[in-house]
Amino acid sequence: MQTLMLTPWMAPHKIISWQRAVVLQFLDKVDVLETWDEELRGPSAVLKVPAVVRLHRGSVTTKPSVRFSRVNVFTRDKFRCQYCGIYEQPKRLNYDHVVPRVRGGKTCWGNIVTSCYPCNDRKGSRTPEEAGMKLLRKPFKPETLPVVPPIRLGEVALPDVWQPYCAGYVRAHVISASA
Ligand SMILES: [Zn+2]
Repeated sequence: MQTLMLTPWMAPHKIISWQRAVVLQFLDKVDVLETWDEELRGPSAVLKVPAVVRLHRGSVTTKPSVRFSRVNVFTRDKFRCQYCGIYEQPKRLNYDHVVPRVRGGKTCWGNIVTSCYPCNDRKGSRTPEEAGMKLLRKPFKPETLPVVPPIRLGEVALPDVWQPYCAGYVRAHVISASA
């Protein structure tokens, strides 16, 4: 069993072990929002295993900066080609330099978008304007990421109890906690 940890501002943050969640609960670092049916029986108390916890404000001193990586770009773009809008599996996605590298485009949050292979081919080493292709959204550096993956991407369904908290963050593909 695992626990979904939310940031103080209610964004999915990470997936942690339930044991870790219990420790954080005892240290008063988190609020428990949802529990699993399983119970832990101690000598004096019965505790339900946390399914979703939320970090207290103050438990996070600084927002960690989101690392630039292929999978984080896909996650920011919700596994969606930013040109044609198709949702794809990670293996069918590529990342595209909006301003092509040969034109001095950098490999950074502000110039990289998720793209399917056909769109990537079509665009080639042109800018979107030159290729007559429109971006769904201008690329940006995200403040936080949905569920930081320590974790591998797969097609495993999120547990029901987590879903309301992940809605809008994870769509066609979810992050497999176990794998
Ligand atoms: Zn596409």
